[in-house]
Amino acid sequence: MIRCVRSIRLLAQASTQLEAVETLDLRACEALQCRSMMCSKFGSACVCKLSRVVEQCAPRLTALRTLVLADNELTMVPDSLWGIASLEAVDLSGNILERVPGGVASLANLRSLNLRANRICTADAAGLESLPPTLRTLRVGGNPAALKELQARCAEGGSSAAVIN
Ligand SMILES: [Zn+2]
Repeated sequence: MIRCVRSIRLLAQASTQLEAVETLDLRACEALQCRSMMCSKFGSACVCKLSRVVEQCAPRLTALRTLVLADNELTMVPDSLWGIASLEAVDLSGNILERVPGGVASLANLRSLNLRANRICTADAAGLESLPPTLRTLRVGGNPAALKELQARCAEGGSSAAVIN
């Protein structure tokens, strides 16, 4: 039984038992590098490859609790990710996200969200006002926006999550 998958290649190998996968760790994943000549992100990590993988697998990742996409130079996150209702911890640190992904709000079991070291500035932090009520820990250090302002945003939305560095 495969419970933890650490590469896209292994995800393909685990295709008959996706329902058992609890952790998907694609930190600094070379396989996410874009090979599409038509894409402006050719040669670097790209959401188009990730989108394809997630769209194929998401409906069957029913036990997935932890998703790590850290250190991938991602500028956005595929929408299909937000359909994985079992997710409890999402790590998007070390990317180049300029906004808080709006889809986070639909993860009804989310307890931990890591947005450290991205490019979120206060003006683009709107997503913090609609965080799931289950969220307990939010990491936001290393962004252009000041921690205090992000904490205030979060509180305005009624979240009781601890907003930390
Ligand atoms: Zn691409």
